[in-house]
Amino acid sequence: MKSIFLKRGKEESLRRFHPWIFSGAILRMNEEPEEGEVVQVYTSENEYIATGHFQIGSIMVRVLSFDNEEIDQNFYERKLSIALDARRSIGVIGSNNNTFRLVHGEGDNLPGLVIDIYGSTAVMQAHSVGMHTDRKIIAKALKNVMGDDLQNIYYKSETTLPYKAELGQENGFLLGHDTEDIAIENGLKFHVDWLKGQKTGFFVDQRDNRSLLEHYSRNRNVLNMFCYTGGFSFYAMRGGANLVHSVDSSQKAIDLTKANVELNFPNDNRHEAFAEDAFKFLDKMNSPYDLIILDPPAFAKHKDALRNALKGYTRLNKKAFEKILPGGILFTFSCSQAVNKEQFRTAVFTAAASAGRKVRILHQLHQPADHPINIYHPEGEYLKGIVLYVE
Ligand code: SAH
Repeated sequence: MKSIFLKRGKEESLRRFHPWIFSGAILRMNEEPEEGEVVQVYTSENEYIATGHFQIGSIMVRVLSFDNEEIDQNFYERKLSIALDARRSIGVIGSNNNTFRLVHGEGDNLPGLVIDIYGSTAVMQAHSVGMHTDRKIIAKALKNVMGDDLQNIYYKSETTLPYKAELGQENGFLLGHDTEDIAIENGLKFHVDWLKGQKTGFFVDQRDNRSLLEHYSRNRNVLNMFCYTGGFSFYAMRGGANLVHSVDSSQKAIDLTKANVELNFPNDNRHEAFAEDAFKFLDKMNSPYDLIILDPPAFAKHKDALRNALKGYTRLNKKAFEKILPGGILFTFSCSQAVNKEQFRTAVFTAAASAGRKVRILHQLHQPADHPINIYHPEGEYLKGIVLYVE
């Protein structure tokens, strides 16, 4: 196995189990590894410290193990079993819920790998070249760990891998084939478009927050902004909302939302969906809403975009504060990793102040337990939400 030697003192973060090695920490390599190759990492004192996937870029090694072990199918089986046991113990697997995240990258000590389960289909996504290289042994390990519960594995990494690595990657089934596409979340059904949908086909990370919304929906007029597959909309309907309006700029998202609402509440005329830009819709809307959800795409994908992202959150939330009825409730989210909790809260605070409304924080929300945060890798905390009561 090829070896990488760190500069003096650069092993400190690894001693605290942080799983990334930046290019600036590397002193030398005995031989340049291929992208995606497994490498061993040594301190400047020639002491073994970690094993990980090598990749050209600012993060050069993503650590898979601090225990000097082989990275083979057995290794992945062990890690996937641990991940599955954790999901069983938090109670997300059952007949009422067959949709969950099995592997959340660094949160499951498998940096670069995401696996979402939808019934008997797994959607696997590689965010690093190493996980792409290992995809076939991971698929075998996954099948062994899940047994008959798993029939299909769809590999979907066309847009998540660095294009410069020229991997020629394609999306496709590593096991089984395209099949029944209806999954269940907390007893509600939805179609998953794993072939063409965003991310792995559904935003699994809002499950708990959708449940909370359900409790606030009785007799309310609900606006679900940035609805995508309509998750929040059908929870609001089950919660007894008077009416639910879903908005997304993508016509495909609107079609999906309508299909999902129809699946759960056939011929229910409380729901309407609009393909429109969020800002335009909020500007011209005059329907009175007293429950609004704002769950936009990540405004800041990188640190450089932070200032503009914060302005974007303020502008968006201000519009909602200006229009929401007295006694209304706002569920507002940011999924930008580059924006931290305090920054997001400040952006929302600025919006409330400039709209001149009296606002109380009812809940502070985050990603659910099947999207765990590795305590040594705080960067893994990405989803932030605030529930506000607007006087
Ligand atoms: N709330 C959703 C996830 C939202 S993802 C859920 O629970 O699953 C973000 C969505 O915002 C995408 O569907 C995207 O099409 C939509 N979007 C992006 N820019 C938009 C804009 N300017 N106006 C309205 N929708 C937009």
